[in-house]
Amino acid sequence: MRWSLDALYPSFDSEEFQRDMERCEEEIKEIIQWSGENFTTYDHPLEKIAAYIKRQNHFFHLYTRLLSFGELSLSVSAKDERALRIVEQLEAKETELAKPMVMFQKWIGGLENLEEVIESSGSLKEHAFYLMEIKKNGKYLLSEAEEILIAKMKNTGSNAWSKLQELLSSTLLVDIHVDGEDKKLPLPVVRNMAYAKDSDRRKKAYEAELKAYEKVAESSGASLNGIKGEVITLSRMRGYGSVLEKTLMDSRMDQETLDAMLTAMVESLPAFHRYYRKKAELLGHENGLPFYDMFAPMGDVKMEFTYEEAKDFIVKNFRSFSDALADYADHAFEKGWIDAEPREGKRGGAFCSNLHGIKESRILSNFTGTFNDVSTLAHEMGHGYHGHCLNEESYLNSDYPMPIAETASIFCETIIQKAALKEASEEERFAILESSLMGAGQVIVDIYSRFLFESELFKRREEGSLSVEELKEIMVNAQKQAYGNGLDHNILHPYMWVCKPHYYYASANFYNFPYAFGLLFAKGLYAEYLKRGTKFVQEYDQLLAITGKRSIADVAATMGIDIRKIDFWRSSLKIIEEDIETFISLKK
Ligand SMILES: [Zn+2]
Repeated sequence: MRWSLDALYPSFDSEEFQRDMERCEEEIKEIIQWSGENFTTYDHPLEKIAAYIKRQNHFFHLYTRLLSFGELSLSVSAKDERALRIVEQLEAKETELAKPMVMFQKWIGGLENLEEVIESSGSLKEHAFYLMEIKKNGKYLLSEAEEILIAKMKNTGSNAWSKLQELLSSTLLVDIHVDGEDKKLPLPVVRNMAYAKDSDRRKKAYEAELKAYEKVAESSGASLNGIKGEVITLSRMRGYGSVLEKTLMDSRMDQETLDAMLTAMVESLPAFHRYYRKKAELLGHENGLPFYDMFAPMGDVKMEFTYEEAKDFIVKNFRSFSDALADYADHAFEKGWIDAEPREGKRGGAFCSNLHGIKESRILSNFTGTFNDVSTLAHEMGHGYHGHCLNEESYLNSDYPMPIAETASIFCETIIQKAALKEASEEERFAILESSLMGAGQVIVDIYSRFLFESELFKRREEGSLSVEELKEIMVNAQKQAYGNGLDHNILHPYMWVCKPHYYYASANFYNFPYAFGLLFAKGLYAEYLKRGTKFVQEYDQLLAITGKRSIADVAATMGIDIRKIDFWRSSLKIIEEDIETFISLKK
């Protein structure tokens, strides 16, 4: 149940690792020098672009191999100071590449016949999307001096505000009376009590949590105003129509797609409200679900799996989809690509790291034998399979945007969940469905409330700073609109803007709708799979292979799916709505 990292390097002290660290340093110097010499004139554009792409692909191949080795070592051994130092060293090194990258962007921006140049060469054509995207984004760059100034000022501006918020939330202690004692507990511990079996504990935790936010609300509010203020200033100076426009461009998505998705989401809200009201009724509430019972566990899943059984279950059910997917999973289990055993010093949760350079992946999970753990393993294997489908692409062509990042993972999770539901007893089915609906509610309903909140926040921030009272009012209104009569309007969560870190990332605004996109796109693909059967399977692999070199709409279009049409999103939501109806009928 432990992975092997030997395929990357034998150890930090090994000759191979030391040699690659030195090469990495040399290559950075070379790129900086070479860019300085070449991006001052426009002669031989084809050769220059080809050479730049080659250098970049080569460098990142080497760099990510080193970084992955450091990060993966660290993830299973948090106290490994050597690994920590190396990761920090590598991250610092990479920032030196910012200058040649800006130079290249500006140079590409000034190249008038870029399309012609691309057309004239096979290797450039292969990177056409990457190059055209650089040209498009280059329009929003300011002068080199301004860019450097902005980068430096950010460290004392938005980045400093983000750090303050991180500090506030990670050191906040909540006063709470539990287990017959007065305690001061860290915020995550208290928030986790929302999943407690005991209803009194959930309610107490919620009340104590809200009370604790009063201590940091003013400072958090100042951070939020600072960050969003800077974002607005920069967005205007760069010439974007709005902050949302920039976010969509970074996501390789368009407004039409976002509108279609949001429209379908709004249409589906009444179904979610029915789910919340049913859950409220089962927990004995009359006016909809109080916020503190949103994550209350329901039903009992007795399904237990040994690691070996989990493997068999996953491989068997993946095989019902395709041999390629099943073979990938089997290989990952057999070849030591998975670190599944929980142990001290290892980080919690789960993730998948795709090692493009050696065409492998590594999966970390903390397997304890619950059905949830099996589902998580399947999820991470989906990420790994996505990487597997990208193996033949260059490094620059395998970087996909956030909204599409969860496609393969949720798809695999869906395969496993559907299979488990078939074998489950009625009580187990109820518990599995409920926990999946709880998750979907977060991704559709709560994400919609966050989108509403952030839209209103930007609108008002244009006029000036917002007070804590205003922020609370906007949050509560957004929740009322999204959750409708599903939640008890007297027991909402006015401080969600303090507790979610996503609002405080200056370089990622509206870090909400990509989650909804991820879930719904994967579900929509699953609906297509049910319709098209085996024909779908090959097209699906092809779709994953091009996710790093097309806009999202073009990726979907290769399968004949039009994500600008509301109907596609409706078909995704229909799958969840059917689950809601089943959930309700199970407890009639
Ligand atoms: Zn994931």
